[in-house]
Amino acid sequence: MRTLQMPPPLTTCKLLPPNSPPLSLRRSHQLPNKTTIRARSSGLQSFLDLSCESKPECLAIDLQWHEPSNSSSYDAIILGCGPAGLRLAEQVSSHGVHVCCIDPSPLSAWPNNYGVWVDEFGAMGLEGCLDKVWPMTTIFIDDRKTKYLGRPYGRVSRKRLKTQLLEGCASNGVEFHKAKAWKVEHKEFSSTVSCSDGSELKASMVVNATGFTSPFIEYDEPRRNHGYQIAHGILAEVEGHPFDTDKMVLMDWRDSHMGSEPCLRPRNGQLPSFLYAMPFDSKLIFLEETSLVSRPVLPYVEVKRRMVARLRHLGIKVKRVIEDEKCLIPMGGALPVIPQNVMGIGGSGGLVHPSTGYMVARTLALAPVVADAMAECLGSTRMMRGRQLYGRVWAALWTGERRRAREFYCFGMETLLRLDLKGTRRFFDAFFDLDPYYWEGFLSSRLSLGELIALSLSLFGHASNPSKLDIVTKCPGPLARLIGTLALQSI
Ligand SMILES: Cc1cc2nc3c(=O)[nH]c(=O)nc-3n(C[C@H](O)[C@H](O)[C@H](O)COP(=O)(O)OP(=O)(O)OC[C@H]3O[C@@H](n4cnc5c(N)ncnc54)[C@H](O)[C@@H]3O)c2cc1C
Repeated sequence: MRTLQMPPPLTTCKLLPPNSPPLSLRRSHQLPNKTTIRARSSGLQSFLDLSCESKPECLAIDLQWHEPSNSSSYDAIILGCGPAGLRLAEQVSSHGVHVCCIDPSPLSAWPNNYGVWVDEFGAMGLEGCLDKVWPMTTIFIDDRKTKYLGRPYGRVSRKRLKTQLLEGCASNGVEFHKAKAWKVEHKEFSSTVSCSDGSELKASMVVNATGFTSPFIEYDEPRRNHGYQIAHGILAEVEGHPFDTDKMVLMDWRDSHMGSEPCLRPRNGQLPSFLYAMPFDSKLIFLEETSLVSRPVLPYVEVKRRMVARLRHLGIKVKRVIEDEKCLIPMGGALPVIPQNVMGIGGSGGLVHPSTGYMVARTLALAPVVADAMAECLGSTRMMRGRQLYGRVWAALWTGERRRAREFYCFGMETLLRLDLKGTRRFFDAFFDLDPYYWEGFLSSRLSLGELIALSLSLFGHASNPSKLDIVTKCPGPLARLIGTLALQSI
């Protein structure tokens, strides 16, 4: 095993300009590669110089495969075997709906490291799919102020969750097809999916669950005003770290590491990032430098440089990078066109929380709602097809109340976009002082519009005077937009 020496302090900073174009939403291969990062980091020695050891892993589950010679039609085809696609497939097939899932690699392990609140998984009976639970979470507001939250947080066992969903699908008769969907064509009452292997599969309904970048879902483009969460994470074996192993670090907004890298400070003051850390034990930890939301997106190379500086300051020497992840999540913006002749769920259904970037727990919780609507329409008694079918299923997912609440979460994102480091710290200081019913409900998308308004008033009451000034001076624009949109929706 190779241990890196502490790098010398940086004397120059070559960051990308603040208005660099957004990175492609496609993941790792389109983000700057290691060689580029290293070259730009002017000889920097750090965890970035270690190769990631993770190898693609496959699950050993006996699936029923689609038989290409079989030209009969399915009730539903689900594109994508991520958390959204498999949960929906498992749920809808339990109603007797005949489903085929298409994915280039249905048995591959999911690549992302997922964190969730334990109560969210508990409510779905999925606690067994967490591989580590921290009874408390920590928020470092700054060097002087730390908050401890008594809400347990867990790391999802990707392997257990995916296995459970695949086994549920297998026992409900779901078929799988190993290919990439290329084209979806619609007739009045059915659709055909053409795949990368030349096969064509037919169904009464197509659901897209291929994540954030999908050519199959239509948006009203000019209104797609996303923010972006960007982060770099590593699961690392370290010589040691300063965090308690019974507390997960949800946000560390301290910036004392900028002391030895003063050139990083002004941009961090304007476009702050924080550390998210899951300490598994004294030597194993998941560390992720995260920009909560930015527009245009904070350059990835800058996120990495901040992380190098932070780990050095915290005295964290990385011995091995066991896994790494490049996280880029579009947040907020317009919902897909509703309805349209493909149903969307997960990243492609607009389910990401516009203020936090979280999505997994919410998608798993809403998939049964979508499944019920699909089963009702596709079931033998209703036999609803075409526009009517898609209209019903989209309406089941995006009820008026959920759409209004989402507008509010988008308002939350717009507010965060306008806050600098000091404003962000003041915001979270007041936010986590709220009654847990409100902050927990906000983070888990559980509040009604009325409750969200009550939360805002309470937040204003808890806010310090500078924070009140921030809200009064920076929020009128987004607030006016929120009121306008809600008024339009109520007509
Ligand atoms: C690095 C990272 C970390 C994240 N961490 C968290 C977290 O901690 N907590 C949280 O709540 N959310 C998190 N998110 C946000 C969100 O929950 C995830 O992006 C989640 O994986 C989205 O699930 P999904 O099923 O919609 O799409 P994905 O997980 O992206 O799955 C899409 C599937 O579709 C397949 N596919 C793609 N194109 C096609 C095609 N043309 N035909 C057929 N199949 C196709 C892909 O191979 C993949 O299997 C994270 C996101 C990222 C990127």
